[in-house]
Amino acid sequence: MSNKFFMTPEGKKLITVIPGDGIGPEVVRSAQKIIEATGVPIAWEERDAGETVFKRGLPSGVPPETIESIGKTRVVLKGPLGTPIGYGEKSANVTLRKLFETYGNIRPVREMPGVVTPYTGRNIDLVVVRENVEDLYAGIEHMQTPGVAQALKLISRKGCEKIVRLGFELAVAEGRTKVHCATKSNILKFTEGMLKRTFEDIAPEYPQIESQHIIIDNTCHQMVRKPEQFEVIITSNMNGDILSDLTSGLIGGLGFAPSANIGSEVAIFEAVHGSAPKYAGKNTINPTALILSAVQMLRHLDEFKAAEDIENAIFYTLEQGIRTRDVSGDEGAVSTSEYTDIVIGNLGKRSEKWQARKYAPIKIHEFSKDPITVRPQSRSVAGVDVFVESGQTPYEIGEALKELTAASPVYLKMISNRGTKVYTQTGAITDNIDQWRCRFMLRDSNSSLTNDQVVALLQLVSQKYNFMQIEKLQMFDGKEGFTKAQGED
Ligand code: NAP
Repeated sequence: MSNKFFMTPEGKKLITVIPGDGIGPEVVRSAQKIIEATGVPIAWEERDAGETVFKRGLPSGVPPETIESIGKTRVVLKGPLGTPIGYGEKSANVTLRKLFETYGNIRPVREMPGVVTPYTGRNIDLVVVRENVEDLYAGIEHMQTPGVAQALKLISRKGCEKIVRLGFELAVAEGRTKVHCATKSNILKFTEGMLKRTFEDIAPEYPQIESQHIIIDNTCHQMVRKPEQFEVIITSNMNGDILSDLTSGLIGGLGFAPSANIGSEVAIFEAVHGSAPKYAGKNTINPTALILSAVQMLRHLDEFKAAEDIENAIFYTLEQGIRTRDVSGDEGAVSTSEYTDIVIGNLGKRSEKWQARKYAPIKIHEFSKDPITVRPQSRSVAGVDVFVESGQTPYEIGEALKELTAASPVYLKMISNRGTKVYTQTGAITDNIDQWRCRFMLRDSNSSLTNDQVVALLQLVSQKYNFMQIEKLQMFDGKEGFTKAQGED
């Protein structure tokens, strides 16, 4: 595995290190110091990203030298990055994750010795495996009318396969016995449903692991009531973002929550927390989350012994009652640098009770670069949804569109407002907005709507209305690739 890493002439694995913003430099230096104390052959190439870069006038927050370094080393240890108000539009974190297709975000949490929470003694030890580049976090947003905003929730079969395989391979590597897939497939049948279906397709390839689908809201409920039942949870990007902050709260907070962003080419290791600017430079924050992220990095680098030594040293240190301010309050707290030095002094020591689990390398699957992964036997277009802006009543819009399309190959089937059918009337009492979905179906249901027919329809519609979006109503292998509105037959 190690030949995929960049080796220096001295035989060291080269890592891009980004100290980051706010408390970032303090926690990153702490992790670097501890890693160096283990003696592992690692060299650092320091690069920047985030606030200082935004303020230099680079809107992405990620300079070319950083991109070049990551392209070379393929492994990053990263502090949190802030997005200063008034600079840049996109988060530099999200940009880094997406630039290098780190599609899986692995977020483990485990009960820590002496870190008292309402769950102490319940042996929480679970991993959220969050899809990292798709979903609403693709960040494709539009203002559709002056008062209506839309974000696209994009989920691909390819993206689902990647995250599901990563979740199962992580379970294998960590000797776990159970994997859950948490989705909102009961409501979002195509997007969240795709993750559920992919999970169910792939699960039989791992017969030694118990697999179970669970609705995401129930996951949160179960997580608060009985978190110890979970081992590995695969979930989509936004659900995983929220769920993993909840799980970090269960074991004592963001100071203990590490993460790894994993892709086929590049891996980025960082704490779940942000730059906590109010604590910057105060030498009081808890570096454990970043140190445990570095432990994940060492395992990725096949440095299992050093990783185990550091994890055990943290258990030993906490068991001795050594705490930072976030755990103990001001009373008896050690500083970030004192905590770091104590962990270094405890390298090689083992707690009787708290042991690092046994890890093996995670098998990272290779995926085809072909953008097409699903090829149906047959496909056709049954109609088209045209989204228009109007302050008229549904009846006025419906009657006008019926008249405009009277001689067209398509007919107006219905109009919906925020997903509820409002034309023809159903008896629903809706508080409408000025964005309307007008569903046109082919009169000849045995044919397929052509692009030219769509263009001709748009010309008709735009005689009276502004349209801002269209969606074809596609059929794949005879199955409808679109959902019905509430109240639609
Ligand atoms: P945050 O930086 O995570 O801090 C929130 C609170 O969590 C802190 O005020 C502190 O709580 C606690 N905390 C966080 N890290 C801690 C640590 N290591 N030790 C002890 N306590 C810790 O969240 P935020 O204030 O919402 O975000 C600040 C900036 O970070 C924003 O610009 C945001 O965009 C960015 N951010 C970056 C990343 C990333 O780079 N991956 C992730 C999230 C946010 P108390 O106040 O209770 O002490």
